[in-house]
Amino acid sequence: MKVAIIGAGIAGLASAVRMACRGYEVEVYEANAYPGGKLSDFQLNEYRFDAGPSLFTMPQYVEDLFELAGEDIHPHFSYLKLPVICHYFWEDGTHLKAFAEEEQFANEIQEVLNIAPEGLKAVLKNGQQKYELTGRIFLEKSLHKLKTWLHKDVIKALLRLPRLHLFRSMNKVHEKYFDHPKMIQLFNRFATYNGSNPYKAPGLLSMIPYFEHKIGAFYPQKGMNAISQSIYELAKRKGVKFHFNSKVDEIISHKRRLKGIRINEEILDYDKVICNMDIFYAYHHLLKKHKKPKRILRQQKSTSALIFYWGIKKSFENLNLHNILFSENYKEEFSLLESGQISSDPTIYINISKKYSQEDAPDNCENWFTMINVPFDSGQNWDQLIQEARMNMIAKINRMLNTNLNELIECEAILDPRTIERKTFSHLGALYGTSSNNKMAAFMRHANFSKKIKGLYFCGGSVHPGGGIPLCMMSAKIVDELMHS
Ligand SMILES: Cc1cc2nc3c(=O)[nH]c(=O)nc-3n(C[C@H](O)[C@H](O)[C@H](O)COP(=O)(O)OP(=O)(O)OC[C@H]3O[C@@H](n4cnc5c(N)ncnc54)[C@H](O)[C@@H]3O)c2cc1C
Repeated sequence: MKVAIIGAGIAGLASAVRMACRGYEVEVYEANAYPGGKLSDFQLNEYRFDAGPSLFTMPQYVEDLFELAGEDIHPHFSYLKLPVICHYFWEDGTHLKAFAEEEQFANEIQEVLNIAPEGLKAVLKNGQQKYELTGRIFLEKSLHKLKTWLHKDVIKALLRLPRLHLFRSMNKVHEKYFDHPKMIQLFNRFATYNGSNPYKAPGLLSMIPYFEHKIGAFYPQKGMNAISQSIYELAKRKGVKFHFNSKVDEIISHKRRLKGIRINEEILDYDKVICNMDIFYAYHHLLKKHKKPKRILRQQKSTSALIFYWGIKKSFENLNLHNILFSENYKEEFSLLESGQISSDPTIYINISKKYSQEDAPDNCENWFTMINVPFDSGQNWDQLIQEARMNMIAKINRMLNTNLNELIECEAILDPRTIERKTFSHLGALYGTSSNNKMAAFMRHANFSKKIKGLYFCGGSVHPGGGIPLCMMSAKIVDELMHS
């Protein structure tokens, strides 16, 4: 069987390995000159930067691929568990370390914020229950097959519906566990992991902190790019052929059966096609002649990001790999995002891979990936917004870290919603496909297969189960199962 994969994003790469392990002839067509899509890196003078994702959770999905391929992962990919997941900073000078070890984190919260440990324990336990009740069904299976809905786990989840907090917001759930605004803000932040608003996203999403705080946050040796590189190399070893600078123009079908793909004028025959590109563009460019699933494509997009990649001529002792500088008014920050604007006091995320990979920046220097959440592109004046945001971010960092950043930045690159869209063909520059800002969002993502064309499948962040590296990898697994069930 011949399988074509459109896009070498993380889900496309994972699909390539899975298909090759089935013994198929697999070819991947990628518009860019490199694999990984959003999960790639670049060099700026003497600084290396991971371009997109910076947080690695659920490494077992990478391990699964090596196991499937019958290879020992260790010579090819290694990672470590972070002892401190994130450093949180507030304007009043509060600095809180989120330790991976629960007791230690509880002690830190007690010491810094004077909060008893019960709330933390209870919220993480609740997250775990939510995951155990729904994860295996709603994240690991297709929601568009009757078989899934007949599974006994669905009945179990439905019987415990109130515990899933589908009908209250994530913020309301966190208010139930904490009465300290800083803890609520810290836990609300996890809504941004799929580009959503904690004041609107369903409380079911409060399972996200469970992944990070109970299973762990990890750092891949040589940085995030090592995830996509190691899977790319694994795919090649399994015989997958990659075609870079190869933009697919059309998915060809005849009488509801897949025939192949078209690149420029060339038609290439395939038995199956797995499309890893953004579902909006897939319908608007590659499936132009087909009826579009309008309701699905119209869903609200997730947030985007504005990133300043800065080469910094200093080492900051009080910063670590992941650092958050919180805004004073979180609710307003999200309201502004929803109306297409950026707060003048945005929450700033600083990622410094140099803290774990010495080779990523010169001695006594650091590679800062400095990011704020911004709305998806709806035609804003981005040049002006970027200028204003840069000024506000530098002022906030100077204030909170007691420094003078303008003197320390020696090189800079910028990524904004327009360039995210241009580089990875993500509709409106959304990072995670659609947002999860309503309780039906999980059911409104596109299926992992085409109901109109037999032999066509979809994976990646814009389809079920959603964006982020672990879910993208899961989509590849679902496609594999759908093809072989
Ligand atoms: C700034 C940023 C920060 C993020 N942070 C995190 C994080 O910390 N942790 C996390 O888990 N996730 C994070 N994410 C989300 C994560 O990166 C994505 O969900 C995931 O990488 C998407 O993978 P994908 O498989 O959907 O493919 P994508 O990475 O979207 O790649 C799709 C590929 O398809 C190619 N393509 C498109 N059209 C065609 C065509 N017609 N022909 C051929 N090829 C085509 C594109 O060139 C691209 O390479 C972040 C994303 C960004 C941008």
